[in-house]
Amino acid sequence: MYSRISSAVCSGIEGRGVYVETDIGRGLPGIGMVGLPSTMVMESRERIKSAIINSGFDFPKGKITINLTPASLRKNSSCLDLPMAVGILESGGCIGEIKDGWGIIGELSLDGRVLGVDGALPMMLYLRENGMGGIIVPADNAAEAALAGGNIHAVKDIRECVDLIRRAPEEVSGALSRERVKNAMEGDGGGEAIGTAEPDFGDIVGQEKAKRAVTIAASGRHGLLMIGSPGCGKTMIAGRMAGVMPAMTERERLEAAIVRSVTGRSNRNIAEIKRPFRDPHHTIGRAGLIGGGSYPVPGEITLAHNGVLFLDEICEFNKEVIESLRLPLEEKKITHFRKGEAYTFPSDFQVLMAANPCPCGFLGDRDRECTCTQADLDRYRRKLSGPIMDRIDMTIRMEKVEYSDLTGDRTGLTTKEMREQVIAALDFAKKCGRYGYNSDLDEKEMSEYCALGKEEQAFMRKAYSSFSMSPRSYTRALKVSRTIADLDASEEIKINHLAEALNYRLQE
Ligand SMILES: [Zn+2]
Repeated sequence: MYSRISSAVCSGIEGRGVYVETDIGRGLPGIGMVGLPSTMVMESRERIKSAIINSGFDFPKGKITINLTPASLRKNSSCLDLPMAVGILESGGCIGEIKDGWGIIGELSLDGRVLGVDGALPMMLYLRENGMGGIIVPADNAAEAALAGGNIHAVKDIRECVDLIRRAPEEVSGALSRERVKNAMEGDGGGEAIGTAEPDFGDIVGQEKAKRAVTIAASGRHGLLMIGSPGCGKTMIAGRMAGVMPAMTERERLEAAIVRSVTGRSNRNIAEIKRPFRDPHHTIGRAGLIGGGSYPVPGEITLAHNGVLFLDEICEFNKEVIESLRLPLEEKKITHFRKGEAYTFPSDFQVLMAANPCPCGFLGDRDRECTCTQADLDRYRRKLSGPIMDRIDMTIRMEKVEYSDLTGDRTGLTTKEMREQVIAALDFAKKCGRYGYNSDLDEKEMSEYCALGKEEQAFMRKAYSSFSMSPRSYTRALKVSRTIADLDASEEIKINHLAEALNYRLQE
């Protein structure tokens, strides 16, 4: 007898539809599988048999053939265990007829329990968007089910699944609705950043210059490089930057949840998903940073999507690894090609880097002497060049905090105040007709939105020659000054905006 069950797999970060066809005929007992299953899928044969028998069902006699269509799609997931088991049971006449309209995913344990799978969220989204009347998922993925929306049922074992699919999806209404999760999310303070225990910029005293730079960088999504001696607070600043960005939109939250789902991170509490902050160590390899593998999985740049990617000690990173960031930084996504298939991952993030001023770390330090030779310094400077630096619009030199800064009773800007400035600047830009970030302005937009008055032109002409700037660094300064003007709610870029922007150029 023949049966066909709708299911899905996760390919990259996308859900893709799969039909599990089962046919049982005469021949030697056993399960044959076709349709590009990976080793992981082939192994499920053993699990499925034990799970069916241990759940108290009869295991059909005869030769079982399972075909996974479309045959061209490579399948590498244990999530096909449950649909295959159900297909065998139906095809073998062990459970009667299954009603149409069900989409099923889930891994099986030997005792018949249904286990959670990675990438469940994009699979559920696929099944819902492709007209499945009801979707069956593992109980472990219930929180994600609520995010995907639709008539979704979370089951603990095969029996529970079989009981459901004997009825039509319309007859069983889903216990998990998107509304419920949405309500829970909104009840949690609306757009405010969630989690008051987060470290706050208000705790950092005496780094107001750096905080100003962070506010500007976040407003225009300008790449920011912090140069300073060890212990001057670079890491403290970096860890707080995501909090300065506006609260995530529902779409951004869903995107983050999908990446988390695919990479096996818990989505138990969707409401707590915040803007990501990723700080990979400088020993990271190319695949770890930009993603990879024979069935590609996302890397740090995709985990940082819609958030902050912090590269500390940028000069210590392998040069080739850093170079691999160039394309995703430009295109805000990365595509891996494997066996004729393209896997595209989003990677739209705020880039933040930190470096010591010199190999020993104390060049220009007030208290300690730099022990580097001129040759050391030259070699080090060369590391701070190359295409990746093109994406760094702003550089700040950070100083250690003075004792007088610590004892003064003035309080500095808090994360909330900085975020309000960022939101106001973004709103102002929108009012002027700019919807993207200023770091992405192209030539045409630059001539429209960064046009300078006569005096401003004269000012920049002088700066250009006296700082011996390059056309590239000139363009960067102009983009940054546009953002500073936005923070000032000024449609024109004025001399004070330009002067501040010039402070943030990389001084060579
Ligand atoms: Zn030194």
